[in-house]
Amino acid sequence: MKRFSFCSALSLSLALASVVTGTPAQAKVDPSVMRSAIDTQVMRDWPELEALYKDLHSHPETAFRETRTAGVLAARLKAMGVEVTEGVGKTGLVGIIRNGAGPTVLIRTELDALPMEEKTGLPYASRAQQTNADGKTSFVDHACGHDIHMAWWIGTAKALLAMKGRWHGTVILVGQPAEEVVSGAKAMLDDGLYTRFPKPDFAFSAHIGPSPAGEVTIKQGFTTSASDAVNVTFHGQGAHGSMPDKSIDPVVMGARFVSDVQTVISRQKDPMKFGVITVGAFHAGTAANIIPDTAELGLTLRSYDPAVRETLLKGVKTTADAVAMMSGAPAPDVVHSHGTGSVNNEPALSAQAATMLTMALGKNRVILIPASEPGWTASEDFSEYAEGGKVRSVYFSIGGTSPEVAARLKAEGKPVPVNHSPFFAPDPEVSIKTGVETLTLATLMVAGK
Ligand SMILES: [Zn+2]
Ligand SMILES: [Zn+2]
Repeated sequence: MKRFSFCSALSLSLALASVVTGTPAQAKVDPSVMRSAIDTQVMRDWPELEALYKDLHSHPETAFRETRTAGVLAARLKAMGVEVTEGVGKTGLVGIIRNGAGPTVLIRTELDALPMEEKTGLPYASRAQQTNADGKTSFVDHACGHDIHMAWWIGTAKALLAMKGRWHGTVILVGQPAEEVVSGAKAMLDDGLYTRFPKPDFAFSAHIGPSPAGEVTIKQGFTTSASDAVNVTFHGQGAHGSMPDKSIDPVVMGARFVSDVQTVISRQKDPMKFGVITVGAFHAGTAANIIPDTAELGLTLRSYDPAVRETLLKGVKTTADAVAMMSGAPAPDVVHSHGTGSVNNEPALSAQAATMLTMALGKNRVILIPASEPGWTASEDFSEYAEGGKVRSVYFSIGGTSPEVAARLKAEGKPVPVNHSPFFAPDPEVSIKTGVETLTLATLMVAGK
């Protein structure tokens, strides 16, 4: 991906940005003064944040099982005097900091880890295991870095509490379960996140990644892809393998579907727009001489644009129906089991945040990628909080690889481990500090006084 260094003219006043975006409050915030106040607070809180991070790292829990994790965070928030509600969207939690009249700002962290084995060799590496739905045991690892996110989320709450005189309004701290299965945000919203608690005007979240530690990247516009899971079951008629005329062969239907469905990408989708259809699972049959009676296929669909997303979903259904009809089979089951839209960072708010962060952190640490550039193909359910743009939102990407680690890996001829790698091990101190700086500054940008 081509990247652009964001080089803002430091003379560009935030007051100008406020005219563009209609949020006058941040005009009173001096980013460099705020940054040093935040850094002082993080240094004071560091022993606690580091201990919290290591504790969460060694006790990971997967989607909708984050009861210990939510309990640890709830206890921390309560000790800070924050109003806490637990059990929102099954295992999620909500903390509220009220600070008079003003905008409402949502700050989200994820709680969940992944069912995989950690191989980092860190002294506090996870050896946790769990029993899965199929009865098998797996290791559990915070290989996506959500433990880092939880530490910077608590650090941000502490900084905002310490700086209450610098902002006004309400901060909603959302601890979201089950991001890895892209269903936790929806679970919290379905459980009344926007009706039982103050509805946000702004929403911010950040994700740790393998880029250089301390670097903040903001992608304007579509940032992550929409993700949809679709299961297709073809119903045929079983028969002996030597008597195909007595069968309606679901393996042939499935095979035809796997290739035909790619024409939705090549012939129906706008070629200039991103879209992927992958058939990642195909289960049918038990033996070479038996024509089975069903074939089950699992698909993942990825896109940025809502119109492309619709084209892909419709194309999958039409192709499956047509394939079954050609074989004289009954209509297949096409089940859209779950999905989430693209994270779409509001361009004006993203530019404003990049200006603010550049003034606070320095231009070497901030990258703004324009909307015309492609986003990331991974998916994220932070998109749910934006309600199609009604809640103004920015999702930041924060680098976690220290120069020493990068140099050592380069010398060894090894790549930097990415998220979901068993070797993923971002530098906790720089990462957590950058997360607190970014999320606190973003809040002060829209709620500062
Ligand atoms: Zn992940
Ligand atoms: Zn993640």
